[in-house]
Amino acid sequence: MKADKSKIKVAIIGAGFGGVSAAKKLASNKNIEIFILDRRNHHLFQPLLYQVAMAGLNPSEIATPIRKVFSKNKNVQVTLTEVEKINVKQSSVLYDGSWKIFDYIIVACGAKHSYFGNNEWENIAPGLKNIEQATEIRRRILTAFELAEKQEDRDLQDSYLSFAVVGGGPTGVELAGAIIEMAKMTLKHDYKRVDLSRTKVYLIEAGNRLLAGFPKDLSKRAEKDLLKMGVEVIKDSRAAKLSPDGLYAGDRWIAAKTIIWAAGVSPSSLVNTMQCEKDSGGRILVEKDLSLPNHPNIFAVGDIVSFQAPSGDFLPGIAPVAIQQGGFAAEQIQADLKQRKRKSFQYLDKGIMATIGRTRAVVSTAGMHFTGLFAWLIWVFVHIVYLMRFKNRVFVFFQWVFAYFKFGQGARLIVHKTWRFYGDKKIQYDIEDTK
Ligand SMILES: Cc1cc2nc3c(=O)[nH]c(=O)nc-3n(C[C@H](O)[C@H](O)[C@H](O)COP(=O)(O)OP(=O)(O)OC[C@H]3O[C@@H](n4cnc5c(N)ncnc54)[C@H](O)[C@@H]3O)c2cc1C
Repeated sequence: MKADKSKIKVAIIGAGFGGVSAAKKLASNKNIEIFILDRRNHHLFQPLLYQVAMAGLNPSEIATPIRKVFSKNKNVQVTLTEVEKINVKQSSVLYDGSWKIFDYIIVACGAKHSYFGNNEWENIAPGLKNIEQATEIRRRILTAFELAEKQEDRDLQDSYLSFAVVGGGPTGVELAGAIIEMAKMTLKHDYKRVDLSRTKVYLIEAGNRLLAGFPKDLSKRAEKDLLKMGVEVIKDSRAAKLSPDGLYAGDRWIAAKTIIWAAGVSPSSLVNTMQCEKDSGGRILVEKDLSLPNHPNIFAVGDIVSFQAPSGDFLPGIAPVAIQQGGFAAEQIQADLKQRKRKSFQYLDKGIMATIGRTRAVVSTAGMHFTGLFAWLIWVFVHIVYLMRFKNRVFVFFQWVFAYFKFGQGARLIVHKTWRFYGDKKIQYDIEDTK
């Protein structure tokens, strides 16, 4: 690490929505040297990850190399590394085998899936958090159709044609809708022996409604849309006893060879190494300026933070919260350098949205609720605008236009086998753990 000692050193851990937003704000200050530390070389636009899983988009269309984002900023150093520990008292970070001290640290390492203590379910039911998992889910879904095509036994064929999605939040709703559309629209003419109209998608939700963070009328509408599309919604039922052959939803057995986990998240493991106050879910409790209590030079932003808005509600783990918090933390550092008073973070709620299928979405913004085609067009517009690079915006736009008119799913490739070869050695390949 080559550091200019006259400059203020700021470590940003994680180049997701929060970290990139913070780094962009700080980069214009030439008195600051920024060290972005991420275990991946790319910023990932997670809201469109389900489209990679569903073969609608290629990974590179939603991922941007972090170095590319900051290639013009001489005071930004990007390091591909797994941060192992953060020492809050010492203001230091352990990575690449040694502790490094920083003037400021912005922790923006995001969330991982939570299997509620059943981590052994991860290989049976992958979650959707990174590109490896998205391509693994794609492989499993497409392979299930291939295996159904080969089966003579009708029960077995049915279990290959059955997909269970656990968790009725936005990701679960998006996945359930996309799987049923893929089977009944995109692929329907491609399989000659098996009738894909027999495909079943079960969406299992522990609570009493889908999209719990949305207004009730939009939850109802999402459920209605999914039912129309052919998804079976099972509410008030916890997923249990997951196995490669299926799972229980409450006390009902569902035979499904493909299970996807879209329920529950908890902060990345790195947060466990931080000696600071946390809530019962392990999220960091921060001051109003997003710094850690008694450690004004360490900030936490995004999915790892528990922050109560003046309304009493805790802010949800969504991209706009992370973006605004990252930018705000950067502004407080700038304020310190100018010896100005820090402010309290206030979230500007621009609304929430989820897509359910082709031409179906729900949007809540500025006190108004939209559904159907108009909501879907808003969803398309917002997601294209927020994609990181111009090139990606153009690519995604044209892929969607094509898919809209042709019902096509261009990225229908089965990659990632369960087995890999290293030389002449055959080694089992597990999907990478998101720690
Ligand atoms: C499938 C899916 C769909 C979603 N859809 C939406 C949506 O439609 N709308 C919406 O607003 N939000 C959506 N979200 C939520 C949104 O993506 C998150 O709230 C947002 O990404 C949080 O930003 P963050 O900066 O806190 O963390 P992230 O964006 O997750 O970034 C964390 C970064 O930290 C890095 N990192 C983690 N641990 C380490 C370590 N130990 N060392 C080094 N680097 C590390 C990771 O590699 C990653 O780059 C979705 C999330 C998922 C998974």
